[in-house]
Amino acid sequence: MKKPVIAIDGYSSTGKSSISKIIAEKLGLIHLDTGALYRGITWFALQNCVTKDGTIDLNQLFSMFGKIHLEFRNNDGELILFLNSIDISKAIRSHEVSENVSLVAKQKEVRDFLLCFQRSLAENGGIIMDGRDIGTVVLPKAEYKFFMTASIEERTKRRYQELISLGIDADEEQVKQNLIIRDKIDSEREIAPLKQADDAIVIDNTYLTKRETIDSILSHINKI
Ligand code: C5P
Repeated sequence: MKKPVIAIDGYSSTGKSSISKIIAEKLGLIHLDTGALYRGITWFALQNCVTKDGTIDLNQLFSMFGKIHLEFRNNDGELILFLNSIDISKAIRSHEVSENVSLVAKQKEVRDFLLCFQRSLAENGGIIMDGRDIGTVVLPKAEYKFFMTASIEERTKRRYQELISLGIDADEEQVKQNLIIRDKIDSEREIAPLKQADDAIVIDNTYLTKRETIDSILSHINKI
């Protein structure tokens, strides 16, 4: 039996990736955190394509796509993101990357560069992909689509705790502002904006635990 393709989109820090990872383990699917790919490109740009005034030179970044090799490696069931053989899984969570990623992700060149990579991974089914445009653009034919949302206060708390647990210094107000700005840029961009697919099931998990959110998603998958 062909395994399903599941798309999970939604606002920043709604728990999309950590929840998708657990569902993938339960259903024997591959999990792809597409936000990590955009963060990876942004990290590369911050290393290699910064102008004298400290901003990212987008044209230089586009001209260097051929030098970017992104790859997930499996480490005891955990997928670790490598860029040109460097483990960047922690570096991509830094403030600097968070502050620049939405600007990088709104560029058509960047989205085109990552689109084929994401689609090729879903060709054989058996995948759960989380991001912003998975159900609308990357995998519009996904069998199951979910759109996750939660209050900004709850999302701030979660992202703040995630950063602290990674050993990254964080300020709650700065985290909150970053989420608000990213959601705004992501929702308002011209190409593949963050939006709910017409056929997606909306899950507001403000008052749900991680376990309850997972159960809710699984109940929809088991029902069909
Ligand atoms: O999921 P995460 O918060 O790590 O994503 C970081 C950023 O990557 C988002 O704010 C968005 O700008 C971009 N992104 C995107 N499309 C996706 C996944 C992430 O534009 N499918």
